[in-house]
Amino acid sequence: MKTENEMRLEFRSKSVNESFSRTAVAAFVALLDPTVEELSDVKTAVSEAVTNAIVHGYRDAPGTVVLAAAVLSGGRVRIRVRDKGIGIADIAQARQPLFTTGGGERAGLGFAVMESCMDRVRVRSAPGKGTTVTLEKVIGGK
Ligand code: ATP
Ligand code: MG
Repeated sequence: MKTENEMRLEFRSKSVNESFSRTAVAAFVALLDPTVEELSDVKTAVSEAVTNAIVHGYRDAPGTVVLAAAVLSGGRVRIRVRDKGIGIADIAQARQPLFTTGGGERAGLGFAVMESCMDRVRVRSAPGKGTTVTLEKVIGGK
């Protein structure tokens, strides 16, 4: 699939960067002239993925989050959020609604929210190596 546009951001795993990264992706995706709902879906999904990298991936030690976004042909947007943190041992279990390792503070709904906002969500992860979440959505497709 042809790549028509690309961008990449690297930032520290600080919670203030959740809103920064969400806004940066929104500005990039806005170039495709999305509907208000499409833009809001992308922002919500990115926010969940970045928050996970910060609060779970880099739970034990701070690190760098890499966010890469690409516009493919047909208005398909692909966003990758990558950390080199603790990783996920059982990805299927982690993706189940209400599953959380966050104790009482978290709902365990982040992946479910990403799935409802995007057309496709892929997770690659290895314990001790980190996690990459890939989010895809066709903008202007409906
Ligand atoms: P919520 O998103 O509702 O605040 P949550 O973050 O626990 O709660 P999910 O976002 O669905 O829920 O994630 C489920 C679980 O997957 C997390 O509790 C955590 O154990 C694991 N997880 C998710 N992302 C990462 C990551 N980047 N690195 C390590 N573990 C992760
Ligand atoms: Mg979460």
